Amino acid sequence: MNYNEMLAVAFAEAQAGFNEGGVPVGAALFDADGKLLSRGRNRRVQDNDPSVHGETDAFRKAGRQTSYRDKILVTTLAPCWYCSGLIRQFNISTVVVGESVNFTGHLDWLREAGVKIVELNDAACIDLMSRFIAQSPQIWFEDIGEGCC
Ligand SMILES: [Zn+2]
Repeated sequence: MNYNEMLAVAFAEAQAGFNEGGVPVGAALFDADGKLLSRGRNRRVQDNDPSVHGETDAFRKAGRQTSYRDKILVTTLAPCWYCSGLIRQFNISTVVVGESVNFTGHLDWLREAGVKIVELNDAACIDLMSRFIAQSPQIWFEDIGEGCC
């Protein structure tokens, strides 16, 4: 599976989240051979749980892994501090980012730690998040922690 095919899995999660009225960020975890280990999406709204970001949802659903140095985390949007911390804590080696236009995240902080960042600048990811921010700005600013954490 190539990076764009991996992103398609994460994007399907983001689209599902959007359709549910949630924050449309999806993610998936793959092994080094491109085998899908798990997938997930932000469920802040759906579950009333601010700790369920796309990345953390996929991470938890993958269960215990002996190492993350050979894992690939794919996310539709550049990771926030919370998810960036998770990536560094568990030494996830590669992060594929659908887009960093609507939210720049902290990609340099990840690169400094030796994380390989693959930016796809995907038009569908940019468009979906843009539509969500225009439609539900208050949920978006809550999600990125402006004024809450
Ligand atoms: Zn996050």
